[in-house]
Amino acid sequence: MNKVTEMFGSKVFNSATMKERLPKEAYKAVQNAIKNGKRLDITVADVVANSMKDWAIENGATHFTHWFQPMTGVTAEKHDSFISPTDDGHIIMEFKGKELVQGEPDASSFPSGGLRATFEARGYTAWDPTSFAFIKGNTLCIPTAFCSYGGEALDKKTPLLRSMEAINKQALRVLKLFGNEATSVKTTVGPEQEYFLVDKEMYDKRPDLLYTGRTLFGAKSPKGQELDDHYFGTIKSRVAAFMEELNEELWKLGILAKTEHNEVAPAQHELAPIFTTTNIATDHNQITMELMQRIAKKHGMVCLLHEKPFAGVNGSGKHNNWSISTAEGVNLLEPGETPHENAQFLLFLCSVIKAVDDYQDLLRISVASAGNDHRLGANEAPPAVVSIFLGEELTEILESIASDSSYDSKERVQMKIGVHVLPRFPKDTTDRNRTSPFAFTGNKFEFRMLGSSASVSGANIVLNTAVAESLKQFADELEGKENFNDALHDLIKRVIKEHKRIIFNGNGYDDAWIAEAEKRGLLNLKSTPDCLPYYISEKNEKLFSEHKVFSPSELNARYEIKLETYSKILNIEALTMVDMVNKDILPAISAFIGKLSKGVNEKKAAVATADCKYEEKTIARLSTLASVIYDRCEALDKALIGAMDEGDALKTAAYYKDVIFKAMNELRISVDEAEVITDRKYWPYPSYGDLLFSVR
Ligand code: ADP
Ligand code: MG
Repeated sequence: MNKVTEMFGSKVFNSATMKERLPKEAYKAVQNAIKNGKRLDITVADVVANSMKDWAIENGATHFTHWFQPMTGVTAEKHDSFISPTDDGHIIMEFKGKELVQGEPDASSFPSGGLRATFEARGYTAWDPTSFAFIKGNTLCIPTAFCSYGGEALDKKTPLLRSMEAINKQALRVLKLFGNEATSVKTTVGPEQEYFLVDKEMYDKRPDLLYTGRTLFGAKSPKGQELDDHYFGTIKSRVAAFMEELNEELWKLGILAKTEHNEVAPAQHELAPIFTTTNIATDHNQITMELMQRIAKKHGMVCLLHEKPFAGVNGSGKHNNWSISTAEGVNLLEPGETPHENAQFLLFLCSVIKAVDDYQDLLRISVASAGNDHRLGANEAPPAVVSIFLGEELTEILESIASDSSYDSKERVQMKIGVHVLPRFPKDTTDRNRTSPFAFTGNKFEFRMLGSSASVSGANIVLNTAVAESLKQFADELEGKENFNDALHDLIKRVIKEHKRIIFNGNGYDDAWIAEAEKRGLLNLKSTPDCLPYYISEKNEKLFSEHKVFSPSELNARYEIKLETYSKILNIEALTMVDMVNKDILPAISAFIGKLSKGVNEKKAAVATADCKYEEKTIARLSTLASVIYDRCEALDKALIGAMDEGDALKTAAYYKDVIFKAMNELRISVDEAEVITDRKYWPYPSYGDLLFSVR
């Protein structure tokens, strides 16, 4: 099977396969479940499960699993085989409807943020029929949502589905006002994924990469990314072989991997799929990350998904391209041709502008993690300040609407919404600078603050819910208005005036912008512990409960988990540093000093007047550095003990940021200094140069 068209989706129990294999009635029932989010009747579920099992076995599967996304950030699965014993000592392969629609993983060790006491540890998983079952290795994977018996969400999918329902409901109300008879509205996502590939042999020698996913030490290599010669450069043959296999495996799983290229940093690459419905795009992105890691190993490499694997080299992110479209496939963020279409486009555009301004804090929180804190605001990724890029043309149009002035200076017409045609504006190309966190790119928005390793679920839950809230307020105001066009015009005008502070078309890396943003009253939440307190503010709690996305207790659980995860990550990093310094780095420096000292003695014994400048200076410098490293390592170790005394999760996280992280950085500086003057034969780890340039 080498034709891409045949290969595509061959490992997915998709609509085409169902149509081919299921009895007509069962097929219809599943389609209905997909369209209307209805649960399958158990007798139908039995039929579907049986057919799914036959198909899976034909394709090499022996096991099935409910595949879900707990709050850890990775995916989880527990495999059961299809075998079932018979009375005569044989087995049959069996898969029942109830095993398809519901599962009970023993899930007591997944984080629940206090939502579930251990005595009721058993949450349950429920099939999400909108996301097709697929085969991975020898296992049939059934995409599921994971909840507690009280119905509380314990995963990243349940709230995402709820947020999609919220925006569907409110968008339909708004569309109705325009006489649009769409039956449902979905958000769509195309996430562009960045990653690094390093040689596995090098990777295995670095405890920091092994335990934390990033280098905690490492001096800059003589060559870095300064020449920009990697960006869109020729793909090396080993990487090309990896990409080929990755593409094939993704296609078999029905994932629309489309473009791939080298990124700015050496050893950095990107993969972009064609967009699809948000929950499916989220599942697909998780599978993509998993496959990247697995396939890299087959090619003797390791795929690093950490946001900042190397200091002084660009980190990795994800661009979350997002739009809203009707079930009929009409993109609601596509500017129209007629006054009527224009008005509808402008209202949806305004709903996003308002949402991003009102919920800047939640968008920032949705991308907050210890890893991503290294990128945001570090002049390689957008700043931590959330703003929107609209492009000059569209911004001018909005300004002319807000001020009742004419847009086109020649014609001097005042834009009246619903009456005039929107002036044609070219897709703005000035945004190639990529410094905006949230950019309108012609018919979709590109949210660029996401870290490379996190699920895209969090960002899309916030986007969907915040836009649902804007649309709700718009519908409340416009429904029942006698003169719809007038009311619409007034509303759009007001929204632009109230929220134009969030629009910024300039260079996001510029310090002047940060100062200007503060003047405009925009939030600048620099780190994870800085932004998390906003998560559970009254405003945000109200938003999520009103749209039935998170109950206050669910929100609080996520707040606790995010804080704890942050502290745990910094704790592991700090412990790894202490371990590396004590067991490898100081002994290596000491051994090298010993070798040099011995050399000096031998040299002087041979020729009493021999010049020993290199040896003596290096011995002195390294001895001083070794003492500094020793002291700083001890200070870090002591500081870690202090972390246990903080008590509450927010205080602990703040302590890790202010005290531990600072001590880690100080320790790193002196170690990196020592690396530069130590014989490479003595240095215990592969260098940055080895890691970044070894894959050919
Ligand atoms: P870039 O210039 O950033 O590389 P592209 O136009 O190639 O942008 O698109 C980037 C991503 O945006 C792709 O994953 C693409 O599928 C996705 N995309 C395009 N249209 C939409 C849409 N309506 N909704 C969501 N994502 C979209
Ligand atoms: Mg992009």
